[in-house]
Amino acid sequence: MLGAVITLVLLAAVAYAVTQVGGVITLLFIAAILFLAYKRLSLLTFTATFTVLLAAYTVFGEASAPAGAWKVFLWVMLALLWLLNVRPLRKAIITRRFMKTYLKLLPAMSQTEREALEAGTVWWDGELFTGAPKWAKLLSAKPPQLSQEEQAFLDGPCDELCRMLDDWDITHKRGDMPPHVWDFLKSKGFFAMIIPKQYGGLEFSAYAHSCVLAKVSSRSVTVSSTVAVPNSLGPAELLNHYGMEDQKNHYLPRLARGEEVPCFALTGPRAGSDAASIPDTGVVCRGLWQGKETVGLRLNFSKRYITLAPVATVIGLAFRMFDPEKLLGERADLGITCALIPRGTAGVTIGRRHFPLNVPFQNGPVQGKDVFVPLDYIIGGPKMAGQGWRMLVEQLSVGRCISLPSNTTGGAKAATWASGAYTRIRRQFNMPVGKFEGVEAVLARMVGLTYTMDAARSVTAGAIDGGEKPSVPSAMLKYHVTEMGRIVANDAMDVHGGKAICLGPKNYLGRGYQVVPVAITVEGANILTRSLIIFGQGAVRCHPFVLREMTAARNPDRKQGVGDFDRALFGHIGFTISNAVRSLIMALTLARFTRAPTSGATKRYYQHIVRFSASFAFAVDVAMLTLGGYLKKKENLSARLGDVLSCMYLASMVLKHHENQGRPDADLPIVEWACRNLLYRAQEQLHGFLRNFPNRFLAGVMRLLILPRGLTYSAPSDRLGLSLAELVMNPTESRERLCRFIYKTLEPTNALGLLQEVLVLTQTAEPIEKRIRVEGVKTGKVTALELPGQIQQALAAGIISETEAASLREYDRKVMEIINVDDFAPHELGVQAQPSAAQASPVSGIHVA
Ligand SMILES: Cc1cc2nc3c(=O)[nH]c(=O)nc-3n(C[C@H](O)[C@H](O)[C@H](O)COP(=O)(O)OP(=O)(O)OC[C@H]3O[C@@H](n4cnc5c(N)ncnc54)[C@H](O)[C@@H]3O)c2cc1C
Repeated sequence: MLGAVITLVLLAAVAYAVTQVGGVITLLFIAAILFLAYKRLSLLTFTATFTVLLAAYTVFGEASAPAGAWKVFLWVMLALLWLLNVRPLRKAIITRRFMKTYLKLLPAMSQTEREALEAGTVWWDGELFTGAPKWAKLLSAKPPQLSQEEQAFLDGPCDELCRMLDDWDITHKRGDMPPHVWDFLKSKGFFAMIIPKQYGGLEFSAYAHSCVLAKVSSRSVTVSSTVAVPNSLGPAELLNHYGMEDQKNHYLPRLARGEEVPCFALTGPRAGSDAASIPDTGVVCRGLWQGKETVGLRLNFSKRYITLAPVATVIGLAFRMFDPEKLLGERADLGITCALIPRGTAGVTIGRRHFPLNVPFQNGPVQGKDVFVPLDYIIGGPKMAGQGWRMLVEQLSVGRCISLPSNTTGGAKAATWASGAYTRIRRQFNMPVGKFEGVEAVLARMVGLTYTMDAARSVTAGAIDGGEKPSVPSAMLKYHVTEMGRIVANDAMDVHGGKAICLGPKNYLGRGYQVVPVAITVEGANILTRSLIIFGQGAVRCHPFVLREMTAARNPDRKQGVGDFDRALFGHIGFTISNAVRSLIMALTLARFTRAPTSGATKRYYQHIVRFSASFAFAVDVAMLTLGGYLKKKENLSARLGDVLSCMYLASMVLKHHENQGRPDADLPIVEWACRNLLYRAQEQLHGFLRNFPNRFLAGVMRLLILPRGLTYSAPSDRLGLSLAELVMNPTESRERLCRFIYKTLEPTNALGLLQEVLVLTQTAEPIEKRIRVEGVKTGKVTALELPGQIQQALAAGIISETEAASLREYDRKVMEIINVDDFAPHELGVQAQPSAAQASPVSGIHVA
């Protein structure tokens, strides 16, 4: 309210100043010009409309001396504008010269980098770069849906798998999945979700694939990590898209049946994040293969961290291919290439294991010394030599949207589901701990973030099923969903206190917490993804003009290049001016008059996204124009711009998810929390960007156009947080919707089912407990300190009935079953520990058992 008053006063002051210098008509004229810029007209339409307006202004405008000079200035400007409409002229005078300088500033780009940049498609991410996103593009997309067959798989084999898992046995005792689980995964097609039906695979939609991972992940992260890998970037995916027919016919059915277990080996001791710098080589040479002299590859490689490698039967291998003797053609350095190497090939060393943070999915090193294989081991055959990097980045744009986001979301759903119930049943200071404001705030964050993660996962999977290969969103999901997962995992640990810290069969959170850094590190470590990839790739791929300008500037057909560059350049200039005006107007009006696709409770969030989109697009242009290639080195600035883009993307996913679920009113507090949280962060990151922008003058100008009223957007309120916490501390429909697809069947070994059972029982147990407290404890009729004694005394005193006493006893027993933690004899912990002398000899008198 205060902000609105300040704005009105400011606007009135500016209007007054303008009218004093020029008059009311000058004010109207300026407003009309700003409106034209806001509306983003083409240069010709703008010039024509400007001409009419200026003529009218000249005739009817004020006739003072300053107004006269101002009009002359405007007529000169108009003349220049008309000149800019003469394309041959502007090409000769402006475009050609500018293009020369532009080419010099353009950072050199390797083939590899270009392929990475061009991989995948541009989707909603592109709209957010325009400053005026077209909501119909997002909202008209069909909500993702499971087919009958996919639903049956989730309810059938997927549930059966979850039922048979004993995560403590897997993670602590065995350090692996038991043989019957391996067999079940292979025989039921868990490793074949992306393999087409014609090869015996399940050919699931991206959405179904994601839901399966989320469910399995809610039960065991070791198993979900194992399932994720064969369905992600690896042999099956690469064969599907690039394999030769006989390679597909040989491998895909075997992979679908689980007769082959794949892994994909890219990372090595010297090449981690900078994966394109792998030193592993494949040299084309002649050698003996099955007794015959053959032209093949001699491979030398050393890889580490390779998931499934210890048990893999076929290794997808990335290496640099060289042809020094020019046996295949003229090029000696062919570039990164991918091949499939059977485990038993001479020279391959495989089988040892790494131990990733107590989550013992199979992971280990693979080495190869002078391994000779024929050329048709290359995926796609010799014609695909050197195409490896393109293949990897193209497929990453899909895989990265699914595996980690789905596993992490499944984990977050399970953690939020458990925490809502646990904080309701766990009492301290005579209150459920979840009712304390401090815990409430943490629960609210868990709910809001889990909803955001789920929205991003499901809406983006839906887009993939609609034919997109969204490469920039895949990086955004990878980074933000796993970072949110880290917060949710920490929060869940905190609200559970010691219960979550003591590992054992009764601990349903510890392994999920431990695995978080794995998700943060793999498929592009998070710091790198945030600092370099999201904005770096987005700025070129999604910007409506940058890629067009770069391609035009590099076009060897100079005439065509200049023409294309000219169109892009002048489009770009108009775009930047329009975004500056749009940013200013929407920031001043808090986007109240911006068009939104809905009129309900979510309208304001749509409007704010459009506002931030204009501010973001303007800031991006100023940054790119002034910093050029140096922006790549200013990682913190790029990262902040990437955050703004991601926050807008995620908030859009939240709104679309709400629509997809039929706009349930009950979920509105969560939608509001999620959008507020994201848009507040977008504002903070823009603020941080401006504070750190090296050119302080430009930073000031940008601040005036982006945040003229200061930081007006506020984070979710405490009151809102309370509503979110209530939604998961009660057995509500919102809780069910939020945590859909986790394994919560009621059975003795499933904590998620047991927690729900007890949460439902609190509805009847709490009023009885309250009566005991009010009528018994406070009046002195009940003196026992613990609930079982209190029940006994309350029954004797006639405060509760026999039936109520029985149900409360049963409730208390179930609550304590959950609250209790495991303890162990010392020798049960540590693989080499032996029973201590004290344990072995009770005679010592200090028997510990
Ligand atoms: C459990 C596990 C499973 C894996 N599975 C596989 C697999 O199946 N196949 C496979 O090929 N690989 C696999 N990996 C490898 C994984 O992809 C790499 O660990 C990852 O790419 C990071 O490499 P690194 O660990 O060597 O970290 P480094 O490259 O050493 O990076 C260290 C830190 O520096 C940061 N950093 C690096 N460069 C930059 C930069 N330019 N700007 C900002 N920050 C930067 C990174 O973000 C990271 O935080 C796995 C790894 C693990 C741990």
